[in-house]
Amino acid sequence: MRTISVLGSTGSIGTQTLDIVREHGDIRIGAISAGKNIDLLERQIREFKPRLAAVWEEEKAKELKERVADTDTRVTAGMEGLLEAAVLPEAELLVTAIVGMIGIRPTMAALEAGKDIALANKETLVTAGHLIMPLAAERGARILPVDSEHSAVFQCLHGESGKEVSRLLITASGGPFRGRTTEELKDVTVEDALKHPNWSMGRKITIDSATLVNKGLEVMEARWLFGVELDQIQVLVQPKSVIHSMVEFQDGAVLAQLGTPDMHLPIQYALYYPHRLPLPGERLDFAALAAVTFEKPDTETFRGLPLALGAARAGGTMPTVFNAANERAVAKFLERKIRFLDIYEIIEGAMEQHRKTEHPDLEEILEAEADTYEWIESRW
Ligand code: NDP
Repeated sequence: MRTISVLGSTGSIGTQTLDIVREHGDIRIGAISAGKNIDLLERQIREFKPRLAAVWEEEKAKELKERVADTDTRVTAGMEGLLEAAVLPEAELLVTAIVGMIGIRPTMAALEAGKDIALANKETLVTAGHLIMPLAAERGARILPVDSEHSAVFQCLHGESGKEVSRLLITASGGPFRGRTTEELKDVTVEDALKHPNWSMGRKITIDSATLVNKGLEVMEARWLFGVELDQIQVLVQPKSVIHSMVEFQDGAVLAQLGTPDMHLPIQYALYYPHRLPLPGERLDFAALAAVTFEKPDTETFRGLPLALGAARAGGTMPTVFNAANERAVAKFLERKIRFLDIYEIIEGAMEQHRKTEHPDLEEILEAEADTYEWIESRW
């Protein structure tokens, strides 16, 4: 039986990963982790009997330790706990379903230990792709994408030569505000922004979909994952989220991966790659679909995408600043401290004031993150 570990097991991707493990019953769970949701983590400990459970908040870790004292699961806390969970010796694959830049160090530790990564955490490649990809190659570890767009590209590339790719066509739903003007976005609420038309996801990524920042992060990730240039990646709005992304080859052939919007599929594909296992759920009904339409993204209104591309072109620590500024801005929006359009202002301001470092190491990346947070707190 294979053993895997799941960082962020209480979140949207984490719980869906455990659904798949429960469904097939042929994978053991080695370590799990949460930020603070120890109620769910306790239920997961009792069901999956992992050897280790890591909780970010020290107080919550203490409480959980007492609650599960009757089990064989050891509870650890903070970054040390996350790192221990990431390198658990018996686990051969780590699912990084944790949200935020906090995921970078555990991912690097797991790669150092030669473990394969089922990668959901976007921040890892966006900010540290230049460190992660060579490290994975050096250790012979695989990075298997979980995000639906990257999984789609990965599935289209199966059996193909990456050298023959001419373009990646990354699809976007356009989010809940597609078609609206800047004027109409001035007073949108948190509730409006959390109503994604197709996908059910965590709160942060749902807001990122509404600003199109998410698509920008995906372009940055795709560049590292598939080793292509930025101008080989095109974003295309496909409102029904039927086509999860496409690859155009040198001969003009385009391969696409289609399906219903259900994250269980890309997660399962990453867990069992290269095998396809049965997966219950709805199937596409092409006759009922009738039309699949495409449009260009509105980058004047939804500035998340052009700002991301600017950060990616600048390189160095700029993608970190873009990501950190967005992370903090989204948190403030969710706390109702700023308005929706302020998210763009914060990102743009943070990028403008930043003096980038080329080829940053991990410490410099984390420093750029901290400086960005400090700058935002002093102004917003
Ligand atoms: P959620 O917010 O649903 O879950 C996040 C997980 O991370 C939870 O387990 C949470 O614990 C944990 N966590 C949060 N903060 C910390 C912290 N400081 N230390 C340790 N653990 C922490 O997020 P999603 O599942 O939606 O997303 C996870 C990642 O996957 C993100 O990077 C996202 O961009 C990416 N992704 C998500 C997709 C989706 O469909 N949801 C699709 C593609 C990528 P707790 O429950 O205790 O807060």
